[in-house]
Amino acid sequence: MPFYEFMCSVCSHRAEVFVRSVNSTVTAPACSTEGCEGQMRRVVSRFMRHLTEMDQLAEAEAKWGKQIDDVMGPSPDIGRYARRYSELSKDLPPSDIPIHE
Ligand SMILES: [Zn+2]
Repeated sequence: MPFYEFMCSVCSHRAEVFVRSVNSTVTAPACSTEGCEGQMRRVVSRFMRHLTEMDQLAEAEAKWGKQIDDVMGPSPDIGRYARRYSELSKDLPPSDIPIHE
């Protein structure tokens, strides 16, 4: 079942709206924070964001796998691998979507 996530543009309150199908029309809910009249805007859900990060990692593996293998060498050094991978990962797009609980 698909769901959409909304975030208030004023207080950053989040709300999730479940829909019967992806073709359903979704209207933004009102912000439930008392006294807040901010507009709820649709944001990328945390679930979708998770998939996106997984995709990003998969792309990084595909792009840098050869270099990572070279760094690993015949006797893998996990610490060195982790540092190298951290450097390479700087090419990934920034994750700039704020998470508010
Ligand atoms: Zn609000």
